[in-house]
Amino acid sequence: MTDRYASFVQSAAGRALVKRLGLPDPPRLRRHHPGDPLLPGPALLGAASGGRLTEPVAKILTAAGVELADPASADPQRYGALLFDATGITDSTELRQLYDFFHPQARAVLPSGRVIVLGTPPQECATPREATAQRALEGLVRSIGKEFGRGTTAQLVYVTRTQSDIRTSLESTIRFLLSGRSAYVSGQVIRVGGGAASAPADWDRPLDGQVVLVTGAARGIGAALATVLARDGARVVALDIPAAGDALAAVANDIGGTAVQLDLTAPDAPTRLAEHLASRHGRVDVVVHNAGITRDKTLGRMDADRWDQVIDVNLSSQERINDVLLERELMPAGGRIISVSSIAGIAGNRGQTNYATSKAGVIGLVDSLAPALRERGISVNAVAPGFIETRLTARIPLVVREAGRRMNSLAQGGLPVDVAETIGWLAWPASGAVSGNVVRVCGQSLLGA
Ligand code: NAD
Repeated sequence: MTDRYASFVQSAAGRALVKRLGLPDPPRLRRHHPGDPLLPGPALLGAASGGRLTEPVAKILTAAGVELADPASADPQRYGALLFDATGITDSTELRQLYDFFHPQARAVLPSGRVIVLGTPPQECATPREATAQRALEGLVRSIGKEFGRGTTAQLVYVTRTQSDIRTSLESTIRFLLSGRSAYVSGQVIRVGGGAASAPADWDRPLDGQVVLVTGAARGIGAALATVLARDGARVVALDIPAAGDALAAVANDIGGTAVQLDLTAPDAPTRLAEHLASRHGRVDVVVHNAGITRDKTLGRMDADRWDQVIDVNLSSQERINDVLLERELMPAGGRIISVSSIAGIAGNRGQTNYATSKAGVIGLVDSLAPALRERGISVNAVAPGFIETRLTARIPLVVREAGRRMNSLAQGGLPVDVAETIGWLAWPASGAVSGNVVRVCGQSLLGA
């Protein structure tokens, strides 16, 4: 599915028209290619006095080959990223330090630049005043995401105070957020802390040797997932319904993975899947619950079948599969469960009571499983895509489709690869300290904002 308007505005005639009529101006987003530098220019790292993350972040940036700009330099510079360690802020009066850092640089960020603010989770703060000030960071970050434009994204990363080895725990998240992998992720609050992470030998193959199951892999987001995860070094087990067997086989062949034809709602699906994984691989390191369906109707017109099918595929089957894989101890320490939710599960959607219920349930699954599985060294996260260019969104009537595409900070729909890259980051062994998060891949959509 192509966005013809976005291609048109890149042309000379398109640029002129956009300027004259004040039309939406979707920028060309920087996306990841293996071997790319993390940023298109140097990073400027600032800190509030007393910040505890400045040193580990500087080390991460240097190790990642990012040039650190000298804050004292008199020469005007353009930056690939602005990072600010706000953990030293303990009172609202000290929020002024954010203004002092960002105000002079607001126009100095390169296209597809990155803004990252680091804070302490408010619930861990020593005093109500500190918690208030740390909570305030969210408003700044979300506004920068809407204001800076030209493909710049902005995120807030809360880092647990008690986290040991902050450098290793935080590195995967900083790398992901700076890189083109996070092209369509903006305005997010990400919590880091609690689990153990291990750095890869090669950051271009962060999933080397990991056994990864992707459900719904025959097409759309699932097919992009299989490709991205294999590119990053995973051994991919691609699963889909028997009716999608040919497309599934093509995906699996392309990436040197294996295909499993299975309807996830079949009563014996969890045991058959567990037996397949046990006999072929002896384990599964990462499970990505991506398979999903819609059966839209307003509630008054919805028959019970539509309700049941959607809840079963999108939510209950995930629970049954998790239960069997965990009971049989097929997922070792370091395991990852990643579920695909939707912004419909956050904001609700007309005609989608069944779908939104299932997708909100996915968020409940993450909230409830993450603390329990942390003790086993397993992380559980969800991604919530917004408007992604797939067959599903191609079927939406034109006017609604255009509204969905443009009503976000990046003025365009995301691509399946954007969801896949975000899931990839959560799957990395290096992301063990990221659990219990719901990360929206929605270009900071106004829906459910
Ligand atoms: P898609 O329809 O293109 O692909 C879904 C895949 O899941 C299909 O290959 C289908 O055969 C498979 N599947 C369905 N039922 C199954 C079952 N019972 N057993 C095994 N496989 C089954 O959809 P997509 O757009 O790629 O969406 C992927 C996920 O992302 C879904 O969970 C969807 O709800 C979610 N999502 C998509 C968007 C978007 O804009 N496309 C937005 C938000 C969330």
